[in-house]
Amino acid sequence: MSRPLRALIDLSALRENYQRACALFPQSRAIAVLKANAYGHGALRCAKALEDIAPAFAVASIEEALALRAGGITQPIVLLEGFFEASELSEIARQGLWTALHSQWQVDALLEADLPAPVHAWLKFDSGMHRLGFSAAEFAANWRALAASGKVQDMHLITHFATADLDDHRYRDVQLEQIAALRGALQHEGHEVPCCLANSPATLTLQGAGNWHRPGLMLYGADPLEHGNTSSHALKPVMTLESELIAVRDVAAGEPVGYGGRFVAPRATRIGVVACGYGDGYDRHAGEGTPLLVDGVRAPLAGRVSMDMMTVDVSHIETARIGSRVTLWGSADGGASLSVSEVASWCDTINYTLLTGVMPRVPRIFIS
Ligand SMILES: *Cc1c(COP(=O)(O)O)cnc(C)c1O
Repeated sequence: MSRPLRALIDLSALRENYQRACALFPQSRAIAVLKANAYGHGALRCAKALEDIAPAFAVASIEEALALRAGGITQPIVLLEGFFEASELSEIARQGLWTALHSQWQVDALLEADLPAPVHAWLKFDSGMHRLGFSAAEFAANWRALAASGKVQDMHLITHFATADLDDHRYRDVQLEQIAALRGALQHEGHEVPCCLANSPATLTLQGAGNWHRPGLMLYGADPLEHGNTSSHALKPVMTLESELIAVRDVAAGEPVGYGGRFVAPRATRIGVVACGYGDGYDRHAGEGTPLLVDGVRAPLAGRVSMDMMTVDVSHIETARIGSRVTLWGSADGGASLSVSEVASWCDTINYTLLTGVMPRVPRIFIS
């Protein structure tokens, strides 16, 4: 026997979510975003599961891309932040990677590089996020220079929405206007500007836009929206993080439990000890009462999360014993489920951080 903690990864749910992302934008192609180890789910296995249906993948660095290549993935892979050093360019050309260009030094490096073949370049427009990318004037100048250089092929505009997850679409629409104006101006000069716009929240809320879209979180079945909609509610959670009770004890009224004695038993209380803690990526900010499922029944966290364990009040769960199944998020036996978004709200964070935070020491078990 080994430590009873595992992340079950449902690869058929991943495929279904990917197909949903395609169906939402039927006239666009969906790039499956696999950065940060596929948001904690295992990048190579997720890429393999999508290989026959996804025309391209996206990651955050050449290291992440080369790991997919080493695993046999042959699709184009987009580097969302481009290269960090000009020396990566020859490998980018050799490996058929597509690179974003967000800063002038990157454009200049590409224009000066001596490459075996033109590179697929995605020029980043800062349409309002104000994180990466060029202003409209800089973008247009770089587009013209790159188009004339012979160093690039299949250039696209890429941009990112800052607020697509919010109910209030006004700023997103301001960004859309910026994009339309820039494309219109370049088109006027005879430059067709294909584009890649939407992340998951925009995929779920915009009625189509762009030649490509780049869903990330939604592929993993977590809801990226401030308040979900019909499409986001239909997503299938891919990860179930589950463990077991490794001890059960009775604590008298007034006795504290765990570090700092944050939880004090209000009455005679049955406490279950779960083999999962912040050393596994579970958030230590989880508040008193954060829900868990024990034998499929909701039970409140009681006391601070430790590195390898946490404690849960199972007074109301007759079946609770050593070996009882504990679901930290995902689905449990008997049809019960607990969303990673709900857990995140108890931790003052978002589902993105909980999923990407699952540590390497947690074995991923892939099911399809
Ligand atoms: C991470 C990322 C995405 C995917 O975002 P989600 O909200 O997870 O869909 C898309 N585009 C860029 C540039 C990103 O960095």
